[in-house]
Order: sequence, then C-alpha cells, then structure tokens
Amino acid sequence: MTRHTDVVVIGGGQAGLAAGYHLRRQGLDFVVLDADPAPGGSWQYMWDSLRLFSPAEHSSLPGRLMPTRPGRTYPGAAHVVAYLTDYEKRYGLPVQHGTRVDAVRRDDDGDGLMVETDAGTWRARAVISATGTWSRPFVPAVPGRGLFTGRQLHTVDYRCPADFTGPGDLAAGGRRRVIVVGGGNSGAQIAADLALDGNVGVTWVTRRPPRFLPDDIDGRALFDVATARRRALEQGRGDTGGVASLGDIVAVPPVRAARDAGRLSARPMVAQLTATGARWADGSHTRADAIVWCTGFRPAVAHLAPLGLRGPRGHIPTDGTRALGEPRLHLLGYGDWTGPASATLIGVGRPARDAARDIARLLRQTAAGSASSLPIAASTDGSTR
Ligand code: FAD
Repeated sequence: MTRHTDVVVIGGGQAGLAAGYHLRRQGLDFVVLDADPAPGGSWQYMWDSLRLFSPAEHSSLPGRLMPTRPGRTYPGAAHVVAYLTDYEKRYGLPVQHGTRVDAVRRDDDGDGLMVETDAGTWRARAVISATGTWSRPFVPAVPGRGLFTGRQLHTVDYRCPADFTGPGDLAAGGRRRVIVVGGGNSGAQIAADLALDGNVGVTWVTRRPPRFLPDDIDGRALFDVATARRRALEQGRGDTGGVASLGDIVAVPPVRAARDAGRLSARPMVAQLTATGARWADGSHTRADAIVWCTGFRPAVAHLAPLGLRGPRGHIPTDGTRALGEPRLHLLGYGDWTGPASATLIGVGRPARDAARDIARLLRQTAAGSASSLPIAASTDGSTR
C-alpha cells in the first residue's frame, strides 16, 4: 500500500527536525522518516568526551533555546541528544523512527516522488533529504594503508581512551601507541582525549600545521563569520573567506589543556604506512598499535541515486537547498554547499525555513494548475535567499 503526503523528510537528526518545524509553520502535511530507532541523529554515536565547539545558547534549533548547564559552557553529545529528543516531542513532530529510505524515484506520471522504504512506499509532492554524513566516513588513500596490521578506526568508531588499553610497545613504556590523523575539531579533540588520559602514546598527524582559533573565539564567531559571508555574497560584495579564514580548531577546554601541557603538537602527514606503523618523509619510522582517521565524511545520499542528480564529490548541485535538476527535492545539512553553516545546529534553521517556504510555494502553484509552466531549476522569487 502506498501512503500519500505533501512532504517526506528523510532523516530525523537536527536538520530533519528543523525542516519539520518549518513545514508545520507552512501548514503542510508531512512525515519524517528516520533510520535510527531513537531520536538524536548522529549525536547518539559520538565519543564520550566530545564537546560542542559552540556554547549551548548558540547551538539552538528554531523555536527552542538549547538549555545551558551551570559550569559547562560547551555541552557534550548526550546533552544534544536530550535536546533533540525533547524538541521532537515538544513540537509533536511526526517522526517515524526505525524506517530506512532505500530509494527516491520520480513517479511514472511525473508529478510526485516515490519514497521507497523498508516499511513500504510513500508518495510525496516534495522531498527534503536530511540524512547527514555520519554513515559515510571518509578515509584518504594513503600509501601502504592496506599493509598496516594494527587497528584502523574512523571518528565514527572512537569512544574513549580505555578502548586502547592492553599490552603496548615496551619502547613506549608499555603504553599503546595511537596515530590520530586529521587537523579539524574531531582530530584535535580525539588526540587531546588520548593525550590527557596518559595511558596512550599519541602521535597527532595533520596535512598542514594545525590552525587553532584564538582561545577567546568559539563557535559563535564561526557562525557570525558564516553569516557575514552569506550577506557579502548576497550583496555582491565578494567572498569574505568564510569560517576557514579564522582557523580550523576551536580550543575547547580539553584541547587547550592538552595543547598548553605540550601534549598536542602535530607532525606533518606520514609518507606511508607500514605493517607496524608509519614512515615519515625523512625516512624515520614510528610504531603504532592503532590509527584513528579523523578525516571527514561524504554526504549520505545513495537513496537519491535513481534521480540521477549526482555531481562532483557526491554533492548534488543545488540552488540554496533546492536540487538544480529536481525542483521537488531539497537537501538540508550535509555542508556549506546547501547553505552557510547548514550542517550546524544553529545554522540549519535558516535553510530549513527557506526550503519549507519554497516547497509551500511550489505546492500552491502545482495546486493552482501552474506546475507545468514552472521552470525546472529557477526559483520563482528567490526572495528568501
Ligand atoms: P545527522 O545527525 O547525521 O542525522 C541524520 C539522520 O538521518 C540520522 O538520524 C540517520 O539515522 C538518518 N538517516 C540517514 N540515512 C537515512 C536513510 N537512508 N533513511 C532514513 N534515515 C536516514 N555542529 C555544531 O553545531 N556544533 C558542534 O559542536 C558540532 N560538533 C561536531 C562534531 C563532530 C565530530 C561532527 C561529526 C559534527 C559536529 N557538528 C557540530 C556538525 C553537525 O551539527 C553534525 O554533523 C550533525 O549531526 C548534522 O545533523 P544532520 O541532521 O544533518 O545529520
């Protein structure tokens, strides 16, 4: 049996919830299909010591401030899970957990999208895809990666230093040796977590020297800079450089502590991996029991493959959030290519609002019988971008 609705939102993490909030405000009928059995999106899988890079009051979805916690400026992942769980409930968002979307196809008669799931099919007039990146960890091709006989993990597999206990290299005082690769917030935080634990020997590797933001700058500034960039681009004043112009790593307290204790100095990228560790450009060798790849993600958009929209690096070309080749499809979250700071808690609200407005307008036009005259890729008024 096929069920019908105005909009199917795929993914019930922060991006899907923000979409739901704004679709509700537009008075549209919708459902949010989420593969995870419980609320919280990818936050429920992040490592134990993770700290948000922005304070709670600057990490809020539309309509509801994230509660602060006395004595803790940068909340942990569990706090975000609790917030998203409450958000979903508070707004009565129709999230169907435990439902994985396998494919989105154009309807044979051309005026709807068929959303195929492991729990049956939905027919929607529009779709918002908000499936994040967590399920598509990326590891770069480093020479010798297949030779290394120790453990290889990605950010998604890391939980805590205790996972690395056990007999280690005697030359390292019996400690386990771990190489952490990646110069972003994940790499810095995980390297700091291991370094501060003291039971693990850590080598932190970054492709270019790590760029810490000044200690008095946090995620608030990142968002401000992203906003300033969007405004400058909108007003034709040129590209101000975005958040990358500030630095890559927010010096949250554990990162600062490890850095200030001299335990967080980075080495340049390895020349190649060997069976037992890493060889450097100068020919020297470091033994390792494990490598943690904090090397990023790709968008999880395999379910959209039947629409044939894929561009370079797995990105689907968009105008704002709307897919260029399919005006009934919007993409939310994923990265800056779907809107400045779209993949952050505070940043997703605006693109979610724009997507919901755009869909409401499209559906009104379709209902008025003007759909056939709608240009495929063009915005009808673009006023909200
Ligand atoms: P997700 O949280 O990944 O949610 C996607 C949802 O879609 C999941 O529930 C998943 O089950 C579901 N899904 C996936 N595929 C399907 C499918 N085929 N069918 C149905 N459902 C599906 N942002 C900040 O604002 N502040 C921070 O401090 C911060 N720190 C970060 C630290 C790390 C380590 C990472 C990785 C990211 C961080 N971010 C931070 C960025 C961002 O906020 C998160 O990545 C966020 O989880 C993205 O939300 P999302 O809703 O787009 O995706």
